[in-house]
Amino acid sequence: MSAFKMEKALNDHIAEEIYSGYLYLAMAAFCYEKGLNGFAHWMKLQSKEEWGHAMKIYDFIVQRGGRVQLKEIKKPPADFGSAHPMMKQVLAHEQKVSAALNKLYEEAGRLKDNATQVMLQWFVGEQVEEEAQVNDILVQLQFISDKSSAIFFIDRHLGKREG
Ligand code: MG
Repeated sequence: MSAFKMEKALNDHIAEEIYSGYLYLAMAAFCYEKGLNGFAHWMKLQSKEEWGHAMKIYDFIVQRGGRVQLKEIKKPPADFGSAHPMMKQVLAHEQKVSAALNKLYEEAGRLKDNATQVMLQWFVGEQVEEEAQVNDILVQLQFISDKSSAIFFIDRHLGKREG
């Protein structure tokens, strides 16, 4: 019998967050290859953030007296087309993660697992921020429709991200 009922679902979600980090690291590599160093910088910071998300859940499982069990992380794609389709994929991916977190939150509520719900509440809020950030970049990209001179300015801007 596991220490708490949400243990397995939370363990599964650790892998989702690490996969997100892995995906953004693959996107960073793609961006470097295309000379989009600002996008690459942004993706690397995004990747690091995902690792932090995974650790938050990891530490929570330990604190609850559960057992962390790591799953296999699948290989991310290597080619993302260009900046615009790539950012569209980021948004779609974050929407998937949001849906998964909402499901976890609802399940914790159903099980009256208040501690897990409070922990997940942070994630639900964080996802709103993540999606908004990506959406802002997408709006700019849509506006310029992949014109390379304009991409350069967005790239410069993204290169200034600090955390
Ligand atoms: Mg995340």
